[in-house]
Amino acid sequence: MSHSTNTETFLKDNKKVDWHNETLWWVRSKRDVSSKQIPEWEQLRELASGIKDSVLSNLASYLEEFEKNAVANGINVHWAADAKEHNEIVTSILQKHNAQKLVKSKSILTEECHLNEHLEEHGFEVVDTDLGERIIQFVRQPPSHIVMPAIHLKKEDISEIFHEHLQTEKGNNDPQYLTEAARQHLRNKFIEADIALTGVNFGIAETGGFVVCTNEGNADMGVHLAPVHIACMGIEKLIPKLEHLGVYTRLLARSATGQPITNYTSHFHRPRSGQEMHIILVDNGRTEQLSREKFRNSLKCIRCGACMNTCPIYRRSGGYSYDATVPGPIGSILSPGVDLKKHQSLPFASTLCGSCSDVCPVKINIHEQLYEWRQVVADEKLDGAGKRVSMTLAAKVLSSPSLYNMMGKLARKSLALLPKSLINNPLNAWGKQRDLPDPPRDSFKEWYAKNRKS
Ligand code: SF4
Repeated sequence: MSHSTNTETFLKDNKKVDWHNETLWWVRSKRDVSSKQIPEWEQLRELASGIKDSVLSNLASYLEEFEKNAVANGINVHWAADAKEHNEIVTSILQKHNAQKLVKSKSILTEECHLNEHLEEHGFEVVDTDLGERIIQFVRQPPSHIVMPAIHLKKEDISEIFHEHLQTEKGNNDPQYLTEAARQHLRNKFIEADIALTGVNFGIAETGGFVVCTNEGNADMGVHLAPVHIACMGIEKLIPKLEHLGVYTRLLARSATGQPITNYTSHFHRPRSGQEMHIILVDNGRTEQLSREKFRNSLKCIRCGACMNTCPIYRRSGGYSYDATVPGPIGSILSPGVDLKKHQSLPFASTLCGSCSDVCPVKINIHEQLYEWRQVVADEKLDGAGKRVSMTLAAKVLSSPSLYNMMGKLARKSLALLPKSLINNPLNAWGKQRDLPDPPRDSFKEWYAKNRKS
């Protein structure tokens, strides 16, 4: 289904739409305040973007350097061409250790690979340990935002979910009480886990180590208790040197939530004594995106979510309307690269206001790429016959001043006579929530000619 069709479900609850919109705008405002505290903010963005340019231009050699150094540190390095291979590698590690229980911190990559479903089908227990992710795991929903996965749920919804799954008091919506219940529940899961899995925010080619950022310490809790650590990393997450890390950690948390830094910025370089450590480097369409000159920049993304928080469409349509693992403006660039036919409506889910590009900490030209995808969709004739015919007619009218004047006259006259139901009827999607103003008697040109002061 198209983005606009999916959005209809979200728009049914007006109050929730307003609340969602305001909550995300509040996060965006925190980002503004926090970024203004750093005078060199724009230089940092420039630098972050430039470093990623170097990574993308030399990806193969940085990946080889990373592998060499990681292996020398005692980390087992695996390569996965796609989601299937990634999931099979995780399964084989679990089987090798006769493991049954896995705790997992937030990893959008594993969502993209549908790892949870795969492992559950093979009889393993997977527990998401990020609070937001655990909430939506209870109700078997995917994340609706990459940083705040349960942002579409209110505390009343969470209270209901916890009452059903954690037997908390019915109707108790106190966030502290609910968080404490989740904490006690997860503590046991950490203790029982055979294997801990984490995502990776940054892999450092120079050292072969990697960095995981969380606000809840759940990645550390899992990894420090379990005898095996699996880290899953998209191949674009590399940075060349350790000295580059500070550029990104300063940008990431400020852009994501307005914090100066994530509460936990954990560095992993080698397994601790007696532990086994694996890292899986995953392609899953990334090299293909790299080969698209106009869209390769999208691989600079550090998944801060700022473009979602600022986007007027995302804020008012919710994450699920995108029907993709990564929603919002950046998702609308990445998803068409994976399946253009399925996601052809996403580049149109934008006002092209450019706010996403303005806040992006790595300076991805998001709105320009959305516009580029629109042209690809039109060239591939995926935008529907009705739209193509109306655009061809519009092009004819707009390119001929006499035709434009004639059509304007005709429209002003006929709209004054025709019944409103012609516009506002259930068959016309545009007219369902909009109304046309009464047509003016004159065009602007005519009005100007009459009223122009000599
Ligand atoms: S595209 Fe930029 S703003 Fe959006 S999530 Fe990625 S890094 Fe953040």
